[in-house]
Order: sequence, then structure tokens, then C-alpha cells
Amino acid sequence: MNQEMHTRAEHLIAQERVEGISQAEREWLSTHVQDCALCTGLARQTDQALRGFRTAAIPLPSGLASRTQFRVRLRAEELREHGLRRKLVWVIAGVSWALGIASAPWVWHAFEWVGHRTGAPKLIWEVGFVMWWAVPALLATGVVLAIWNDRAGEPQ
Ligand SMILES: [Zn+2]
Repeated sequence: MNQEMHTRAEHLIAQERVEGISQAEREWLSTHVQDCALCTGLARQTDQALRGFRTAAIPLPSGLASRTQFRVRLRAEELREHGLRRKLVWVIAGVSWALGIASAPWVWHAFEWVGHRTGAPKLIWEVGFVMWWAVPALLATGVVLAIWNDRAGEPQ
């Protein structure tokens, strides 16, 4: 058994696993490996290395997939949370406007009454009424718009 045969066997062992070898080469190799402990060891080591390479390669994509799923789930929850918050703000703004409109006649009368009692100029209590009615609704609308703009500025 000369070095040239070992070298050829070594080459064929690698080639067999990468690109395949001819039938004649496979026969020669199996004959050589049967008689050669050195090349049997090499073939086993090559198989183990390739197997190790494959099994080591599996956790990476599966880990990557689960990390991606985790990120997608997080993002979905984040969006759902934002959606709820936005709905809540719209509800608050709507209730504020509805209460303002519903209570407007009573508030108007209250301001009118106070204005007559105190003798304040009509303009003062009219402005007071408008402020009382409009400011909370405008503030609520401002909050809605601020959150809306804030969300529009977020990277999607
Ligand atoms: Zn050999």
C-alpha cells in the first residue's frame, strides 16, 4: 500500500461526498478502504464531519425562524395595542364632544344667569360659554391629532 494510493483514496472519499465518483472509482475505493485502516478512519471522519456540519446547520435556520415568528408576533401585538389606544382616544374625544353638545343649553343658561346676576357684559359670558364648551372638546381633538401625528411618524 503506497502513499499514492492513500492520496487517491483520500481524494475520492472527499469527491464521493461532494460531486460523486464513477462506478469504477467507487469499486476501487471500497476495495482500498476494506484493506486500509488509515483510509477507513478518514472516510469515517469525513462522514462525521459532514454529519456534524449538517446537524450544526439545522439549529440556525430553525432558531432564525422562531426568532422571526417571535418578532412578527411582537409587532402584531404592538400594532393591536396601538389600535386599541387610538380607538380609546377617539371614544374619549367623541364622548367629550357629545357631552359638550348635550350640556350646551344648560351651560348657556347657567352662563346667562350668572351674567345677569353679576351684570357682566354679554360678550364676557358669551365668550365664557364658548370657552367652557369648546376648550375641552378642542383639547380632546388636539390629543387625538397629536397621537395621530405621532403614529404617522413611526416607522411601519
Ligand atoms: Zn489508504
